[in-house]
Amino acid sequence: MANEAVTREFEVTLEVPVTDPAEMSGAERRAALVSVGRAEACLAGWKTRLVNAERDQHGVEAVERVLREELQSSRREATRDVKSSAQLAELPVTSAGLEAGEIPAGHARLIARAASEGPIDESVLAEAAQRENYDKFAKTLRSHQQEMSDDDGQSIFDRQRENRTARAFVSRETGMFVLSGEFDPTTGAHIDTVLAAKERELWNAEDPKSRRTPQQRMADALAELILEPGKGKAKGIALMVVADYDVVNQELVNARLADGSPIPTSELIRLACDADLLPGVFRTATQEMNLGRKRRTASDAQRAALIYRDKECIGCGASAHRCFAHHVQFWRNGGPTDFANLVLVCNKCHHSIHDDGWEVTCESDTGRRSVNPPPDPFPDSGVDTYRPAQRNSVLLN
Ligand SMILES: [Zn+2]
Repeated sequence: MANEAVTREFEVTLEVPVTDPAEMSGAERRAALVSVGRAEACLAGWKTRLVNAERDQHGVEAVERVLREELQSSRREATRDVKSSAQLAELPVTSAGLEAGEIPAGHARLIARAASEGPIDESVLAEAAQRENYDKFAKTLRSHQQEMSDDDGQSIFDRQRENRTARAFVSRETGMFVLSGEFDPTTGAHIDTVLAAKERELWNAEDPKSRRTPQQRMADALAELILEPGKGKAKGIALMVVADYDVVNQELVNARLADGSPIPTSELIRLACDADLLPGVFRTATQEMNLGRKRRTASDAQRAALIYRDKECIGCGASAHRCFAHHVQFWRNGGPTDFANLVLVCNKCHHSIHDDGWEVTCESDTGRRSVNPPPDPFPDSGVDTYRPAQRNSVLLN
């Protein structure tokens, strides 16, 4: 019955077959997941309309209570749903995309929040939301907000700084001490680089046969930084900020963090006053960028240039500070430690390349690098996962 209503109101039908998913082919399962994703968006669109109608008639308090009592939502979820539904009511293109199952609910919520923060071009964002995964879209959205702002993103940045928050408490359920915080982008990037450098230090001191999980390592790094400040920061690049030099007007423009997040020029100037400035010009043809077979590990200059070029793990988008420089032509096969032969990858993607045969590719027109699974080794056999080799081997290049 509920299904019928969805079909009539919107444009997507979700057929739930009786088949056991374990007996479906890979292609059938993928197609089924695509339908589920579209149906979830449709239902979120339908929920938005219901919430708005209920709120118009009975008020915010009443609809929040309905969500808590009938949908067992938490207080926080209920407040969020009512707020984002109201914002979506003002966004016809996004709402239509959501109801048609073309824009996922999370993306629609991001657009709604951005619209409440400042000017946006809704159709540009709605179009991007149909193509990009959540992480990529969140970045697109941040750049878009910066472009559309008439004060170089200053007010966005000020609000982010204003909204900084941290919590520390002992969880009643687990008895564990919980520490969490939210920071403006530059403070966050600074904390992240210091933390990542400490994590690398711990990683290097570990027995490769019994490693901590990344989460345990981050927790240990954080504890060590707070409890043993005397040990100091691990060395490495402190914080990387990038800007373009406008030759005509002789000024720095387009300031951004290493991952591409835009920051206001005023913030760039503030950071530059505090910083030990490194010459930021990477001459990729120089001796320093091409170390050949002289050394296996990337130099600091190469690492900085890699962070600038790749911005993040080229496979999954993990933070650049947690990445390794990987030799595209493997070191053990004679690959040189040259800038052009190196890419940034996180530990997990590094293993996918070395253990599971994933391949690094480079788009010739944009120079964008990525990591892709190997071609299906068993076409049409129903087995489409490539699983050779053992995991947890120690990588040397
Ligand atoms: Zn990765």
